[in-house]
Amino acid sequence: MARDRQYRLAIVQFGRMLHENGFVAATDGNLSVRLDDKHVLVTPTCISKGRMRASDMVIVDMDGKRLTGKRRVSTEIAMHLLIYRLRPDVHGIVHAHPPTATGFAASGYDLNRPLVCEVVVGLGSIPLARYGTPGTPELTDALEPLIPHHDAILMANHGVVTFGSSLESAYMKMETVEHFAKIALVTHLLGNEQPLGEKEVEKLHQVRHRYNGGAAPRKPVAADDLQTDGLQSDNEPKETAGSRR
Ligand SMILES: [Zn+2]
Repeated sequence: MARDRQYRLAIVQFGRMLHENGFVAATDGNLSVRLDDKHVLVTPTCISKGRMRASDMVIVDMDGKRLTGKRRVSTEIAMHLLIYRLRPDVHGIVHAHPPTATGFAASGYDLNRPLVCEVVVGLGSIPLARYGTPGTPELTDALEPLIPHHDAILMANHGVVTFGSSLESAYMKMETVEHFAKIALVTHLLGNEQPLGEKEVEKLHQVRHRYNGGAAPRKPVAADDLQTDGLQSDNEPKETAGSRR
């Protein structure tokens, strides 16, 4: 139970950081931790992520059924459970609406361009999943093909979901995505984008693979993607990896 308490306090802490950083407004966003192979600790719905208490959290089983907690479980629980099912290496998930990255997602842009070496090493690429109504299978269907190969996904006209080996790791990836979105926007405004070349990206993927050790396989950014995805100077939104139009 001591560990349960520790995870509750971690959700409180990272929820507060999401709110303080402006990554969520009002009662937006949700966070969860995998407690074991049958239980997930998750934030309730209709509560500010900036002012949660440890006792507000809900424990659900892998079907999303509430086992403990007084509040109603997050409406996005199906998205969390899908990620835990597809990625045994994942133990923490964060969903938020950081304004810059969500602006990309609302403009039909992914964040796949290799503009910053550390982002290529840390996240590989950040694809855009097609739009799906929150809390419905439309959304989980759009995310499903992307989850095995990515740790951060933009959700069209909605927000961002990040996941990692711990809640802290998932939260840090959310910060990286929003920071990188700001960099990508400034790069675009300056009008002289200089993405890393194919060879440089390949070397960074080798570093990334070493960092990840035996973790789930990651799809590298394909050379073709480097030239066609992301924020383009012609402002043409491109077909995305999650598209099934
Ligand atoms: Zn949301």
